[in-house]
Amino acid sequence: MLKNDQLEQWDRENFFHPSTHLAQFARGEAPHRVITSGKGCHITDREGNRLLDAFAGLYCVNVGYGRQEIAEAIADQARELAYYHAYVGHGTEAAITLSKMILDRAPENMSKVYFGLSGSDANETNVKLIWYYNNILGRPEKKKIISRWRGYHGSGLVTGSLTGLELFHKKFDLPLAQVIHTEAPYYFRRDDIEQSEEQFVAHCVAELEALIEREGADTIAAFIGEPALGTGGLVPPPAGYWEAIQKVLEKHDILLVADEVVTGFGRLGTMFGSEHYGLRPDLITIAKGLTSAYAPLSGSIVSDKMWKVLEQGTDENGPIGHGWTYSAHPIGAAAGVANLKLIDDLDLVTKAGENGAYFNKVMREALSAHANVGEVRGEGMLCAVEFIKEKQGRIFFDASEKIGAQVASALLERGVIGRAMPQGDILGFAPPFCLTRAEADEVAGKTAEAAAQVLG
Ligand code: PLP
Repeated sequence: MLKNDQLEQWDRENFFHPSTHLAQFARGEAPHRVITSGKGCHITDREGNRLLDAFAGLYCVNVGYGRQEIAEAIADQARELAYYHAYVGHGTEAAITLSKMILDRAPENMSKVYFGLSGSDANETNVKLIWYYNNILGRPEKKKIISRWRGYHGSGLVTGSLTGLELFHKKFDLPLAQVIHTEAPYYFRRDDIEQSEEQFVAHCVAELEALIEREGADTIAAFIGEPALGTGGLVPPPAGYWEAIQKVLEKHDILLVADEVVTGFGRLGTMFGSEHYGLRPDLITIAKGLTSAYAPLSGSIVSDKMWKVLEQGTDENGPIGHGWTYSAHPIGAAAGVANLKLIDDLDLVTKAGENGAYFNKVMREALSAHANVGEVRGEGMLCAVEFIKEKQGRIFFDASEKIGAQVASALLERGVIGRAMPQGDILGFAPPFCLTRAEADEVAGKTAEAAAQVLG
């Protein structure tokens, strides 16, 4: 470890941190923390604090920290060939093998995988492919993309627009005009408290139909959604939602993009969220769990239906004008191969389902009865605790009270990391799949203590 006693000063003076209150950080009012190592579900910081990371970094270290198999695969690849590009038919053994492994695990009717580096760039790729596809089909007007309020799809120009959270739009001149938003499938926050789940689904469908009617189906290319809403609140969809939405999309010839950056490779206890909820996507976005974040790598999985048109496009127009220097980077690909192999060897998808069911159960038992807990919800290795001012009449706290952030801080003081989600008083959990029962009990117990400290 560097014995640099100026590290904090260097950090505050030089490092532009993402998703951070810049002024408070520069002034020394917001915490600086340097993480030095990780093992299993724990990380250790420079001060020697050992923390139980119940959010797996940014819900990405799915296999847990310190997996030597993946580290070795990365080191071997770096020694042998750290880089070569993937343009004009070039490749590496790792990237080709990984594409085969992904397609073997993907839902039916998927054809190819295009590799990028982040979930954001994969969704940028998806939007470009969708536009290209409709141009090749001779429908240049069919270009708008429907996303949901509270969806999270990245931080780029188009992807920040797809993201349906105010913080990602405000002062950035987003969303761009090609992106339009519809109702989030968030039953707990429905406007009409009397609505049954079934009625709420019908309402979401009616909102979507009305949007398509207003804009014109011939102007709408695609609909993007996370199988279960992630950063917008960790919300599994109400029963029947996806089937009803897909009927509408199919009727209007609107493509479906399943953004599986969080749900891909096991988080819900199934290999993909599409499989879990019966989605029939035309494109699938993958990132995080593809390498368990041991190296940056993302992908767009393209369906047979779209692939045929992309081939036709290059016959008519020449090579596809889309590529990153680091597309299919061999180090990321080697990490991906080792990660997927580890997931198989340790049966971690099944474990995510089993451990997740236990985790959600103990979280519900520890928190549901609290007067200010409106809902404990989850699926697989996702769990959210939503705080509320008054259950009766469903009155939410004012955002300025920052209840979610306060509970997250109280939890951190107890050595457990949960994430205060960006919109609403929602404390999110997405632990590594190897979370033990003892660790699950610890998270539940300490979250209850933290909630009691902040809310009584
Ligand atoms: N899509 C989803 C569903 C995500 O949760 C995220 C990140 O959290 C992204 C896309 C963007 O991925 P990245 O941060 O790697 O750009």
